[in-house]
Amino acid sequence: MKRVLITGGAGFIGSHLCERLLKEGNEVICLDNYFTGYKSNIVHLMNHPYFELVRHDVIMPYFCEVDEIYNLACPASPIHYQYNPIKTIKTSVMGAINMLGLAKRVKAKILQASTSEVYGDPMVHPQPESYWGNVNPVGRRSNYDEGKRCAETLCMDYHYQNKVRIKIARIFNTYGPRMSQFDGRVMSSFITSALENKELAIYGDGKQSRSFQYVDDLVEGLIRLMGTADEFTGPVNIGNPEEISIMSLAEKIICLTQSKSKIKHQPKKDDDPMQRRPDITLAMKSLNNWHPRVSLDEGLNMTITYYKNLLKL
Ligand code: NAD
Ligand code: UDP
Repeated sequence: MKRVLITGGAGFIGSHLCERLLKEGNEVICLDNYFTGYKSNIVHLMNHPYFELVRHDVIMPYFCEVDEIYNLACPASPIHYQYNPIKTIKTSVMGAINMLGLAKRVKAKILQASTSEVYGDPMVHPQPESYWGNVNPVGRRSNYDEGKRCAETLCMDYHYQNKVRIKIARIFNTYGPRMSQFDGRVMSSFITSALENKELAIYGDGKQSRSFQYVDDLVEGLIRLMGTADEFTGPVNIGNPEEISIMSLAEKIICLTQSKSKIKHQPKKDDDPMQRRPDITLAMKSLNNWHPRVSLDEGLNMTITYYKNLLKL
């Protein structure tokens, strides 16, 4: 049995990770300040004897004896991370410093949740880990992108300087049950609009692409990455290479929900990446043949069922 700290554990991805690690017989400490996470995401775990909940903000130091740390605390959707951009950057940078400091002190292994946003609006497609990215350092997305890039740098420097055992997961767009219906991300927005027969708003012409992975595939990848040998460091892309344009995604969701919704176009958002698809060669090789198992259609159907129940439809 390991004692595992999950920051951002009451959020979408964190709650699935808490659930899975408890199921595997570990003790889980879930730390969250509830900015974008909810107790309802983890309420079903609260009676578990090896589950502990801590209300705390990662920009302040936190001390506990643990074996592993998954540092997920950070708002992840553009409307949430742009709401208070200074706080977002503090969360990424000071949160990483505090968690890396804790890992150093108690000799824990730490996994940092990084993002495909470190590639910005990529000029290389698909994106391998060796690509340094094309990020605007002074735009509306910079607080998130640069904060995550700095967190990666901090991980590497704590490793070089203090021998902290670190793992960096570059997570590509992930979706599934418990994604907040109010986060403005494309999956939650399109599915809830389609279920309510409201218009689906596409920002720009809809030719921009993304590659969506189902949350269970990500959780499997994160756990395998944490389990890699201590000498294995450096970023690893975790995503599903099944790429789709935002226009095709809107059409697919309307079809799967049998919705009467129409599509409307709104102005393109600043610095919105035009294309994104992970090169997962490294993940497949180093994570014991990990690869995404849930297709887009399967994952969408499970997510649609979740939102139907949530909206009581
Ligand atoms: P989420 O918003 O559902 O979860 C983030 C959690 O962190 C929330 O519970 C929130 O309350 C908590 N949090 C935020 N600031 C905090 C702070 N200062 N102190 C303590 N807790 C804080 O988002 P998510 O989609 O579950 O994302 C989890 C992590 O994965 C984030 O680090 C995000 O950057 C990363 N990520 C997610 C995606 C994706 O597609 N979902 C893609 C790339 C990276
Ligand atoms: N998008 C859209 N309508 C929405 C929400 C998002 O057209 O209601 C677009 C957005 O401009 C981007 C893509 O969908 O091109 C993915 O957006 P999301 O915020 O989900 O993820 P990210 O841009 O962070 O990858």
